[in-house]
Amino acid sequence: MTGLTLLDNTPVRHRADPAAPPDVASMTLSELQAFLGALGEPAYRAEQVFRWLHRRGVASFSQMTDLGRALREKLQGAAVIGRLEVAQVQAARDGTRKYRMRTRDGALVESVFIPSASAADKNTLCISSQVGCAMGCTFCATGAMGLDRHLTASEIVDQVNRVWADLGAVNGGFVPDPSGEGSTRRLLTNLVFMGMGEPLHNVEHVLRAVEILTHEHGHQFSPRRVTVSTSGLLPQMKRLMAESDVQLAVSLSGTTDAQRVSIMPVNRKYPLGMLLAACREVPLKARRRITFEYVLLAGINDADEDATRLVRILKGLRCKVNLIPFNEHPLGAYRRPPRERTLRFQSLVRDGGINALIREARGDDIDAACGMLGGTTLDAARAVPASA
Ligand code: SAH
Ligand code: SF4
Repeated sequence: MTGLTLLDNTPVRHRADPAAPPDVASMTLSELQAFLGALGEPAYRAEQVFRWLHRRGVASFSQMTDLGRALREKLQGAAVIGRLEVAQVQAARDGTRKYRMRTRDGALVESVFIPSASAADKNTLCISSQVGCAMGCTFCATGAMGLDRHLTASEIVDQVNRVWADLGAVNGGFVPDPSGEGSTRRLLTNLVFMGMGEPLHNVEHVLRAVEILTHEHGHQFSPRRVTVSTSGLLPQMKRLMAESDVQLAVSLSGTTDAQRVSIMPVNRKYPLGMLLAACREVPLKARRRITFEYVLLAGINDADEDATRLVRILKGLRCKVNLIPFNEHPLGAYRRPPRERTLRFQSLVRDGGINALIREARGDDIDAACGMLGGTTLDAARAVPASA
């Protein structure tokens, strides 16, 4: 079944158990106000609960000590706090850490902590938005899994909390700064929705999660430092840009419809012309640009003509290009281009007046690099000896 069939027809589960009580950690502040209002509580209570959940990351209502016993017990009976459990942490040689986390219903999601190779004060967390993915890009390990279900907002947000906890962060995600006496610094500065899943297929929960993660009473990430990457779901892309202030990344990876459709089935529904026209209409704030990601696949989309065509189709767009040399894995039958080819491609794009960066693979020794989050599907493929 192709990703698009799934996208159009399959009802995907949003919550592990539809009969379960509401999850307060998935609610925006105004949703929490409405929820507590229905329980007869004043609006300021919602702010208190929201702060306990998202600034302090508490696991139970009993820890919300300024609420009063009666309210804590009332909440205990009426709601749950959605959380993940860390099932496995793998550390790569370059400092990258891959987390495998388990949802309440036993699904596994992956997040990747990527410390900056150059600046000590820039750390990125790559988070997942779905268990698997329905889009079926032929080069991607997550795509090979198909879609199991969307993640709820709390399952998206809690990836940040679990990583904070594992890395020793205290309130608000701060860690001691080794360079200054008693001073602290933000452990995570940037968030990217580039883990498992197509975030805009799950746009409802992703918008909620973004609101919580950027809220002044929540995780306080600057929206400029939150990037949502999409394979190109147009209506949802317009909605994301209308309803949030995040940074947009679009996975392009092809410069003609024929080429792109062969590797990204979504191009059948939203072809290049439509995608680029929509990108031109996206309202961009001052100094903002769209990032176009381009996975370089040897012999498929890495020729000189591809580079010059890329320059042509992006002409006039306020953008930059991230070139991602294909990360090889057993679920994708492609090769990474030789280094010289990648460098030549980059220089052709740059000569065309577009800023192009090569995204070096991080954490590839633990399958944490782009497109290598395949959960147990990739593990199983790895377990098969190459000669089998
Ligand atoms: N679903 C979203 C975000 C997650 S994928 C999207 O596709 O944009 C994040 C990036 O990894 C995408 O740009 C995707 O094209 C790229 N990618 C997927 N598989 C890859 C692989 N094996 N090697 C390199 N990049 C890959
Ligand atoms: Fe899904 Fe992105 Fe992988 Fe495509 S590249 S299958 S959209 S996760």
